[in-house]
Amino acid sequence: MNPLFSVSRAVLLRMSRAAALGALVQRTSWGRRAVQRFVAGNTIDEAVAAAVEMKGRGFTVTLDRLGEASSGAKADTYAADAARLLEAQAAAGLEPNVSVKLTAIGLAEGSAVATARLERILMTAQRVNGFVRVDAEHAESLDALHEIVLAARAAGRPVGTVLQANMRRSVADCERLTSAGVPIRLVKGAYDPGVDGVGDPVAVDAAYLALASTLLATSVPLAFGTHDERILTQLAERSRGRAEAQLLYGVRSDLADRLATAGWRVRIYTPYGPDWWPYSLRRMAERPANLRFVLRSLFGR
Ligand SMILES: Cc1cc2nc3c(=O)[nH]c(=O)nc-3n(C[C@H](O)[C@H](O)[C@H](O)COP(=O)(O)OP(=O)(O)OC[C@H]3O[C@@H](n4cnc5c(N)ncnc54)[C@H](O)[C@@H]3O)c2cc1C
Repeated sequence: MNPLFSVSRAVLLRMSRAAALGALVQRTSWGRRAVQRFVAGNTIDEAVAAAVEMKGRGFTVTLDRLGEASSGAKADTYAADAARLLEAQAAAGLEPNVSVKLTAIGLAEGSAVATARLERILMTAQRVNGFVRVDAEHAESLDALHEIVLAARAAGRPVGTVLQANMRRSVADCERLTSAGVPIRLVKGAYDPGVDGVGDPVAVDAAYLALASTLLATSVPLAFGTHDERILTQLAERSRGRAEAQLLYGVRSDLADRLATAGWRVRIYTPYGPDWWPYSLRRMAERPANLRFVLRSLFGR
């Protein structure tokens, strides 16, 4: 990997966790303007309008109320918004489908507290015939993530989660989660994997393909969350009718159209809300060109 890229990636990932700086920048109008390509507005209404527009283009949508490292009243608001989001999708004739992050619903307050908030979201999902995907975050949150999702699944809730190919532990996690029938989205991994990392980007791609093969041999509902056209092309034959491709809002919309034309079911993961700092910084860490794009949108050229 280009050494300059590794340094800027590490710096951006570190900045994504700088909560005080994020809180400051998120309040500015120039900050919001800078990230509008990746974030579909500030409110539930704006997010649902974006989803309706994408449905018109032939895509399904997962909505994500942005917010991480929350607790107390803020985590309560996040959970209530996720439930309202499911209801708003149903009311607009959309498939009710959201992603949530455990850190946003108070994982820092303990697994039991986060579980109780997740349960409220899941009950709404069940009522409107929807689905909740619990995103995978930092390495240190993954044990709790799996315990919580496995328990919810055992209770018959409409829940799935995410495996990160950049973590060595994902091979064992894959076995445990798929044995319990948990729907899986496979991604490369947006967080620093620490000591459990599989290695450089080439090793991550190899791990992704190996996990994809394992997953394709199971019967769990399956999604490939990646913009890597080379990987999706390699998986296309075996995935037809079996898995969907998932892309992030504002990233590679040219690819979304091409995949749909090639017969993939395509879902766009669409975040919204005022707490956009960590999410947007991770998108910039993935592709330094995005940082240039943001600076250009701020300063004109
Ligand atoms: C639907 C979805 C859900 C996700 N959920 C999670 C999750 O729960 N946990 C988690 O850790 N990670 C998640 N991710 C992020 C994921 O782990 C990667 O960090 C991200 O998708 C970039 O990797 P890539 O697979 O697209 O491949 P890369 O090798 O990074 O990129 C392949 C190509 O895609 C394009 N591309 C990739 N990223 C960008 C970008 N930001 N801007 C512009 N172009 C880009 C470039 O053309 C690049 O050459 C999710 C990703 C998607 C698509």
